[in-house]
Amino acid sequence: MTPSSAAPARELALGLCCPACGADLPPASAEPLVCAQCQAAWPLVSGVRSFSPEEAYWGEVPQAVMQQVNARAAEAGWEAALAELVQPSYPDIYRYVVSAGRVDWAYFSRLTAQSHVLDLGSGWGPISYWLAPRVNQVTSVENVVERAAFQALRFRQSGRTNVTVLQASVHALPLQSGQFDLAIMNGLLEWVAVSKRSAGPREIQLEVLRRIHGLLRPGGEVYIGIENRFGYQYFLRAPDHTGLPFTSLMPRWLANAYLGLRRHFKRAVFYNTEFDDYRTYTYSARGYQRLLTEAGFRNVRTYIVAPDYNNPLVMYLLGDRQMLQYYLEALVYPRTLKQQIAISMAHIPWLPELLAPCFALFARRD
Ligand SMILES: [Zn+2]
Repeated sequence: MTPSSAAPARELALGLCCPACGADLPPASAEPLVCAQCQAAWPLVSGVRSFSPEEAYWGEVPQAVMQQVNARAAEAGWEAALAELVQPSYPDIYRYVVSAGRVDWAYFSRLTAQSHVLDLGSGWGPISYWLAPRVNQVTSVENVVERAAFQALRFRQSGRTNVTVLQASVHALPLQSGQFDLAIMNGLLEWVAVSKRSAGPREIQLEVLRRIHGLLRPGGEVYIGIENRFGYQYFLRAPDHTGLPFTSLMPRWLANAYLGLRRHFKRAVFYNTEFDDYRTYTYSARGYQRLLTEAGFRNVRTYIVAPDYNNPLVMYLLGDRQMLQYYLEALVYPRTLKQQIAISMAHIPWLPELLAPCFALFARRD
C-alpha cells in the first residue's frame, strides 16, 4: 500500500487525566499538553503522546530491528516495512502483527458500533487495527516508545482516524474513569507484576484489574487472553513466561527458589527480561474466576481457546457441552485413532478445563 493522504483530524471523546496528580487534562491533541494542577508536561515523542518517562525496550524483535521498521514505515509505508524487514526473518511475528484472526474472540464480546475500546499493552497494534472499523473509537496504550510509534504510523497511514495511541504504563494510566465499553488485556495480566514490584504478584495483578474495572462504564467488560497455568503444553516442556519449562506447574515458592538459584549460574532470560524470582503468575480457570471476582468484576465467562489466545481458531465456553460436541464432531474430521482418543478424553467433564492451553475471559462491571 501507499501511505494515505492525511486524514482529517477528528476530536475524539477521550477523557485524559494527569498520571502524576490525577487532575483532568485537555484533549490528547492539545499542544503543549500541560497539567493545570501540577504543571507536569506530557510531550509528543515520535508522534505519540507520552505519559511515561520509562524507555526500557521490550519486544518480539530486537530494538535495532524495530527502529529500522519504523524508519522504513515512515518512508515506504508500514506494510512494506513489515514485508521487507519482519516477514523474512520473523514469519510468525509477521502473522502475529498483521493477521485479522487476532480479533476473532471479539465475536463473543458485546461490542457495538458505538463502543469505546481500550487496548492495553497493545504492542504492534493488530487488535486496535482490526477493531477500529467496527467500533466508534479505540484508545491504544503501549509503554514501549518504538512500538507506540509504529502504531501511530500504522493507523495514520491506513486512515484509522478513530484510534488514539498513548505511550503509558499500565500502572499509571492517564485515563479518566467510567469511559470504556471494553478493556482488552491480551497477554498482559501475567506480566504486570514484572514491571511493578511494590507488592506480591497477585496483589499487583488485583491492583491493575481494579483500576481497569474503574475505567469501564457500568455494563462494560474486560477481555483477558492468557495461558492456563496447568495447560497441557507445560507438561510437554513448553516454556513458561520465564523462558523455562515447568515453572508454572511448580508451587510458587519452588518456582521462586528455582529462579533465585539459577541466578548464580545461568539466569533465566525471556524477551530481554531477566528473572531472579517468579512473578509471572498464571492461574487455573477457577483461579481467574476468583481473581476477577475479587477485583470487583461480575459475570465471568471463561472460554477455552485453542491453539492459543493469539490465534483463537476454536473457542469453547466452559460448561457448554453442546458447543464442545459441535467442535469435536464438525471440526475434527476425518478421525485418526489419536484424534478419537483426544475426543473421548475431551468428554471427561473436568479435563478440558484442567488442561486447556489458554483461556479467553470476559468479565463485566455491574
Ligand atoms: Zn498533574
